[in-house]
Amino acid sequence: MQLIETVSGIRRWREAQGSRSVGFVPTMGYLHEGHLSLVRRARAENERVVVSIFVNPTQFGPHEDYATYPRDLKRDLQLLDREDVDAVFAPSVEQMYPPGYATYVSVEGPLTEGLCGAFRPGHFRGVTTVVLKLFLLVQPTRAYFGEKDYQQLQVVRRMTQDLHLPIEIVGCPIVREPDGLAMSSRNVYLNEAEREQSLSLVRALDLAEGRIQKGERDAARLRELLQEHFARYPAVRVEYIEFVDAETLEPLDRLRGSVRLALAVRIGRTRLIDNRGFQIPEE
Ligand code: AMP
Repeated sequence: MQLIETVSGIRRWREAQGSRSVGFVPTMGYLHEGHLSLVRRARAENERVVVSIFVNPTQFGPHEDYATYPRDLKRDLQLLDREDVDAVFAPSVEQMYPPGYATYVSVEGPLTEGLCGAFRPGHFRGVTTVVLKLFLLVQPTRAYFGEKDYQQLQVVRRMTQDLHLPIEIVGCPIVREPDGLAMSSRNVYLNEAEREQSLSLVRALDLAEGRIQKGERDAARLRELLQEHFARYPAVRVEYIEFVDAETLEPLDRLRGSVRLALAVRIGRTRLIDNRGFQIPEE
């Protein structure tokens, strides 16, 4: 497995692969089984696999956790080596954003205005900018993203389609801890009491699923039910509970077709998100 830390290095690596298929998994490192599920899928579907590890400063707000975001490159490299990854691209901030850097790409409109976009101004602009830069360097055949960050997946799909990028975007299911918490590098921030309260997220998804299966289609009633649910967890502050169209991410009053329930909460200083998809049968 090659460790590549420069823009010129990843260019050379890509050129050497010629017409071989390349699967790409962009990450911010501090890897867990969620990341590794993407890597395994990429490994199964491509001749070459490249993983990027880059904590991208442009997707963090000024009061967010960029400085304290967990990092452990040595351990990440060991994990990726075991997954038979061909190359790891781990550039410095100076490589990706040299002095004078001034170019950004953004997806506009409802896809980035709602959900996390409303609470993290500029976040998706940072994501699309770095993902496009990485795509142009790695020129992957396929790129793998987790449904854990469902809005990000839809935003990247939109950008790829809008810019005619010849890349297949592959969405992968959420990997969870045995007790149901969605795996996230940020889970290490949680203390014992917060870790217990973090289960409110998956329990909310289960609660909604039960009601939807029983026929509830009114988004306002479901949201109220979930508000009451979260009120039983004193450490949890809800940012949003939204039922949205799974493709456009526009909020729904009545559930129909392909629906996504998206949740964001704060527990102490940690922000956690989770989501689940529902197919509503025709009435
Ligand atoms: P991150 O390092 O948090 O930027 O995540 C890198 C990629 O891994 C993104 O496409 C995430 O959606 C994906 N990912 C993170 N956590 C999970 C998870 N629990 N299950 C599936 N994919 C995940």
